Amino acid sequence: MTARILIVEDEPAIAELIAVNLRHAGYTPVLAHDAASARQQIDAALPDLLLLDWMLPDSPGIELARRLRADSRTRALPIILLTARAQESDKLAGFEVGADDYITKPFSPRELLARVKAMLRRAAPLAADEALEVGGLRLDPATFRVQAGDTPVSLSPTEFRLLHYLMTQPDRVHSRARLLDAVWGDHVFIEERTVDVHIRRLRVALQPTGHDRLVETVRGGGYRLLPA
Ligand code: CA
Repeated sequence: MTARILIVEDEPAIAELIAVNLRHAGYTPVLAHDAASARQQIDAALPDLLLLDWMLPDSPGIELARRLRADSRTRALPIILLTARAQESDKLAGFEVGADDYITKPFSPRELLARVKAMLRRAAPLAADEALEVGGLRLDPATFRVQAGDTPVSLSPTEFRLLHYLMTQPDRVHSRARLLDAVWGDHVFIEERTVDVHIRRLRVALQPTGHDRLVETVRGGGYRLLPA
């Protein structure tokens, strides 16, 4: 079955350009021109990936992203933000509300497809893997569930993969480059700072139960997960 990708973009020329390229690459694009119709499409059928424009006529794309992350049905939906805003603070705001990736306009079809492909691979279920338990954290790849003690933890696909990777090798220090390789895979367009942003989000998600202290920054080295 080919991945269904919802494109939320109010500029018809850009939406059509993206759709043509996705279709050509074997994906099934679906179009929505504002946040409200995107919501309807998502309610009707959950897509495999959301390409979400920041500036929409009815409400900002990041507001839709925030709502989708707060809803258990859509919390694991991979989201790539599209935007003309290139400022670092905006990029961080996008990640804070739960976007998994970020593409700045104008972008090449090659870059878009690379990001889409990498994102879909990252979000693919790892059903063959066994559940892991480290320092009171329990992660089950088959069900996409994480628990900190008895408390369920909501993570986006990227944070889930990041935590999963750290949990497979507790106590080992991983450089940002290594984490990009292991978690992001095809990362030719992704900056190493992206790792820091997702580590921060992971810590925020683990904070209510105090498990954020397990995620340690190693100065000059990278990150590691403490075994207890
Ligand atoms: Ca727009």
